[in-house]
Amino acid sequence: MQKIIQLSSHVANLIAAGEVVERPASVVKELLENAVDAGATQVTVEIRDGGMTFLRVTDNGCGMSREDAKTAFLRHATSKLRSADDLAAITTMGFRGEALAAIASVSRIELLTKTAGAISGTSLSLEAGKITDESDAGCPDGTTIIVRDLFFNTPARMKFMKADSVEGGKVAATVQMQALAHPEVSFRFFRDGKQILSTPGSGLLEDAVYCVYGRDFGRMVKVDSQWDGYTLSGFVSKATDARPSRNMQTFFVNSRPVRSRILIGALEEAYRNQIMAGKFPACVLHLNLPANAVDVNVHPAKTEVKFLNEKAVFDCMHYGVLGALNTASDRPQMQFVRPSVAPQVPASQPLPAQPAKPTAKQNTFFRTMSAQEYQAFSAAIKDAPQPNKFAAAATVAAVERSANLGLKEDIILPSMPVQVSTPAQESAPSANVPTIAQDEPQQQAFSMPEVPSWRYVGELYQSYILVEQGDDAFLIDKHAAHERILFNKLKQNQESISAQALVTPIPCPLRPDAAATLLESRELLDSLGFEIDSFGDSTVLIRQIPMDLSAQEAAETLEALAADLMSGSQKSKYDVRDEVLHTVACKAAIKAGWHSDEKELIKLAEQVMADPLVKHCPHGRPICISLSKKQLEKQFKRS
Ligand code: ADP
Ligand code: MG
Repeated sequence: MQKIIQLSSHVANLIAAGEVVERPASVVKELLENAVDAGATQVTVEIRDGGMTFLRVTDNGCGMSREDAKTAFLRHATSKLRSADDLAAITTMGFRGEALAAIASVSRIELLTKTAGAISGTSLSLEAGKITDESDAGCPDGTTIIVRDLFFNTPARMKFMKADSVEGGKVAATVQMQALAHPEVSFRFFRDGKQILSTPGSGLLEDAVYCVYGRDFGRMVKVDSQWDGYTLSGFVSKATDARPSRNMQTFFVNSRPVRSRILIGALEEAYRNQIMAGKFPACVLHLNLPANAVDVNVHPAKTEVKFLNEKAVFDCMHYGVLGALNTASDRPQMQFVRPSVAPQVPASQPLPAQPAKPTAKQNTFFRTMSAQEYQAFSAAIKDAPQPNKFAAAATVAAVERSANLGLKEDIILPSMPVQVSTPAQESAPSANVPTIAQDEPQQQAFSMPEVPSWRYVGELYQSYILVEQGDDAFLIDKHAAHERILFNKLKQNQESISAQALVTPIPCPLRPDAAATLLESRELLDSLGFEIDSFGDSTVLIRQIPMDLSAQEAAETLEALAADLMSGSQKSKYDVRDEVLHTVACKAAIKAGWHSDEKELIKLAEQVMADPLVKHCPHGRPICISLSKKQLEKQFKRS
């Protein structure tokens, strides 16, 4: 073996660069974190060619003295950490003192910086980490860093870069992420001379979310809760607005973007039985914990995080989101295509829903809880039955296995709306932003609103129950409603699955391993209304089945159950039970197209109208759609 030597600082920096500086987006992430740490309130990012040839970040933060500016590019140069003790209580974004050295080692840099009160600023030029020029410079307070020709001296790394459009997209996602992480800072982003994003820096998360997501945001539900010294705030999608992937789940822990199985699991647990399989809720959520309750001392470029008390974090997220969802009105409104709008939209395509402005009446009834109410609510549910621990663990485990979880640092947000002006620029700050905070009065006392009584009007197409209440009409899907109500009862064991013994037991041929699995799970089957016996190697004898299933359906359900149980790791018994309950509820429920007795329909409507929590059938389809008098008047051109 060769003699041991210490690596030169340049080589060490290149190695660090390999870890910290993966692509233009990672450079932008580091520079933005530095700007935020420097106390900037305005930050501008500009890139050309995806950030490969030119990338500039300008901030109005504290700036650096000449001395500090030169030191900043040395490895392990940081102003944020003095001793090992400081590591436990990190509140800034950066602390390793690696980023600038690493970026500088693989690019050409120009730095302009000035501290407030200094007569002149400093200009530095660096190439491959070496200072090539330094001088005084007239410049505003704050710091501007230009990074040119990224990876010019590491062709191997250069080869890994994707097309400029892809790299530019990743930079855009990074800026969006920082904008959502720091609503108190105004971010602007220009790509090849075109402004792509601008946030007002109002300090209100809703303003930042609105600028990033545009009108889709209007449909999200506000979350604002406290849990044992942890706070959770932000926005989640309604169950009916679930997405095909987890790309739209954004979590921040103490303002750092993170991906965490615990957080994802707890979020999705709150939507259990409300979202179709393969769909996922969207969110922008900030979890704030005491600095010592979380370990951020993980790899700088990664977004992992370790919690001291995972259970508390899970509960905080789960109950916070659940509380918000349960109090939010989400009876979807009937959508009309508006002929007067935008000729580029084909008339057949439904327009995206308007941010629903709740009426004053709805406001008091279906609104997010105030902090006090939430505390009362959370105190109450603390004594209530806890969520099935098995189920919660299973959710987290399922998240872990799910291939859909892109645990990547570069979380790409889907199509970024090109937002040229911010609400703040258009008019008075947040005047036309649907700020939920404004819409919702900060009520102190929880007064029960007067809900007008409703009236059964009739049935449409043998499928929908029509109900009138005040200035609103509701269409209730009778099958979906019945299915949900049955499912809830079965699930809460208010109603046991009634079973029917078969006069002649029927043999159900299966694969031998499936038969064995079913026989091992007799206890579970029993609770679901099945009774089976062994009948040779690859057949089970069905003696009893749930009341509402036909023999054929029962055999099919058993076969599906066996498959679920065998994939063991895939689903917990809890999930399997839920699925059987879905099937039973679905089969037992009255069907669309069937004739139903008026009394039966009134009874169903009664249950739906009385319980705003009956919102979706167990497969996630809506149960009730509202149609307001106003909407109708508009259609008839009366307004
Ligand atoms: P870290 O952020 O981990 O401390 P960096 O290499 O990113 O390490 O930055 C080194 C130091 O340079 C920082 O600690 C900070 O003092 C200073 N610095 C970097 N960027 C800025 C900026 N935009 N404004 C003011 N100071 C900065
Ligand atoms: Mg830094």
